[in-house]
Amino acid sequence: MKTIIETTSPAETFEAGRQLGCLAKPGDIYTLSGDLGVGKTVFTQGVANGLGVQEHVNSPTFTIVQIYDSGRLAFYHFDVYRIGDAEEMDEIGYEEYFFGEGVCMIEWAELIDELIPPQAKKISIEKNLEKGFDYRKITIE
Ligand code: ADP
Ligand code: MG
Repeated sequence: MKTIIETTSPAETFEAGRQLGCLAKPGDIYTLSGDLGVGKTVFTQGVANGLGVQEHVNSPTFTIVQIYDSGRLAFYHFDVYRIGDAEEMDEIGYEEYFFGEGVCMIEWAELIDELIPPQAKKISIEKNLEKGFDYRKITIE
């Protein structure tokens, strides 16, 4: 099943994320793709809010995974952009997160394709400048 949400402001993208966070279940894994500046962090902040996370959520620039455990479920925010190879995922003990009771959001998941469980849900965010500077199309499948 494929869900498409169109937004025209950061607040709407946050709200789309928040709704997903409200509905998320233990063990849910999401991959998140889209160009720089498209709204991945805004969306992820919404998901965290929907999970009840209290801490401020940022892009995990210098760490592969950022862990937030103040919400209804633990939230694991991955950015694997700087990963050398999939073995580095073993080193951080990724299985504990992927196959645990929390919720995973993985940016740049295509770099560790072979590790992503088949049940992971794919989220992509795209711009379309013909529809305006602040237009975003969020696809969840
Ligand atoms: P990414 O994490 O994908 O690099 P960010 O979430 O950090 O992107 O930044 C998205 C930027 O786009 C913010 O400056 C935000 O204000 C702006 N923006 C404009 N319109 C939207 C929209 N509809 N949804 C999300 N962000 C938007
Ligand atoms: Mg970001």
